[in-house]
Amino acid sequence: MQRRNVIVVGAGPVGTVAALACARRGLTVTLLEAQERIDDSPRASTTQPPTLEILAELGLIDEYLRVGLVSRTFQFWDRATLKLIAEFDFARLAGETAYPFVVQTEQHKLANMAIVRLRAMANAEVRMGARVTTVTQDAESATVDVNQESLVADYVIGADGGRSTVRKSLGIEFDGYTWPERFLVITTRFDFQAALGCCLRNYMADPEEWTNLFKVAGDDLKGRWRAVYNTRAEESDAEALSDAAVRARLSRISVPESERHYLHLNLYAVHQRVAKSFRIGRIFLCGDAAHVNNPIGGLGLNSGIHEAWHLANLLKSGGDLDSYERIRRPLNIKYVQEQTIANKKRLEERDPAQRAQRFEELRAMADDAKRHKAFLMRAALLEKS
Ligand SMILES: Cc1cc2nc3c(=O)[nH]c(=O)nc-3n(C[C@H](O)[C@H](O)[C@H](O)COP(=O)(O)OP(=O)(O)OC[C@H]3O[C@@H](n4cnc5c(N)ncnc54)[C@H](O)[C@@H]3O)c2cc1C
Repeated sequence: MQRRNVIVVGAGPVGTVAALACARRGLTVTLLEAQERIDDSPRASTTQPPTLEILAELGLIDEYLRVGLVSRTFQFWDRATLKLIAEFDFARLAGETAYPFVVQTEQHKLANMAIVRLRAMANAEVRMGARVTTVTQDAESATVDVNQESLVADYVIGADGGRSTVRKSLGIEFDGYTWPERFLVITTRFDFQAALGCCLRNYMADPEEWTNLFKVAGDDLKGRWRAVYNTRAEESDAEALSDAAVRARLSRISVPESERHYLHLNLYAVHQRVAKSFRIGRIFLCGDAAHVNNPIGGLGLNSGIHEAWHLANLLKSGGDLDSYERIRRPLNIKYVQEQTIANKKRLEERDPAQRAQRFEELRAMADDAKRHKAFLMRAALLEKS
């Protein structure tokens, strides 16, 4: 392949969807990934209804459903008392979407299944172990330097994650902040649904230490749970990852002593940042390269996939390229940044009166059909601005 239409940098879930969407529209595409294989550590899994619609259009939905778990509801709990506060049911979105539920499918499964499709297409090329070092452009084309080679394309999509080389190459600022605490994900086989009577997606509020519980299928499809906690700002990484601290955290959500073993630990810093610009000339940013946020509510990756889809359609149609940033950047700020910050505050509220009021608001919303649906439309990224 000489000059191609599109080079996508980064084979995470967003880059692979961007590459597959472009290739299925007949564009010639090269996907470049720095690592030799897709990172399968526990990261995002919650896939919202409009994202499922995109995966259906890409021909991935059957496999996606087969390797994931369908979750129709999500619940809010008071962790201190382990009492259910409110449940929200995506069935209320019937008529708004063909998929009135979320699917919990680990993000590496999406990247891997898209790569399999791309490898079978004559107009697509996937290169693993291909770390891009610089991206440049002129009026005619964009050039990517990778492994002592320069590749030329009409357009480049930077989907190379939060530390994006493409973004840095363009000198685009990444405004925002980093939360003082980190998030700890404990993966365990302990069955929280059986033990607590919760559903597959649960948000447990607590002023000192909140917990979110999600079930995923796992690569063996046998099922496992991810318990996500905030750490204390002053807690060191070593302390948070120590066996004693992990077991203590499990004990605080009622896991009996004999069952406090775990399969995996993941500790990561959490940011709220949005790139000053999502495009310069022939080069675009997509997914975490363009914005990062806390994962509460499962919105960041979904919005990245929506961007990849939007961009592939735009590049194919030759439409107004300025519209990408004009539409996508404010959407991310309004629906992803604002919502994830509000979601986090709801879980960690310290003032007892405010806390009681937030619980009351959730109960009232769940009980009112119109408000219940409106809340879900926004939470599922179905609301249009
Ligand atoms: C540790 C961690 C845990 C997370 N946990 C959750 C969670 O529990 N829930 C949730 O909703 N979200 C979570 N997130 C966020 C979610 O994983 C991201 O929103 C999602 O990965 C974004 O996808 P992406 O494709 O934009 O970027 P990424 O998944 O980061 O993919 C970027 C890809 O680009 C490649 N790359 C980077 N630089 C180059 C280069 N120079 N050249 C070529 N390739 C390059 C990388 O190797 C990577 O494969 C987590 C993120 C992290 C970092």
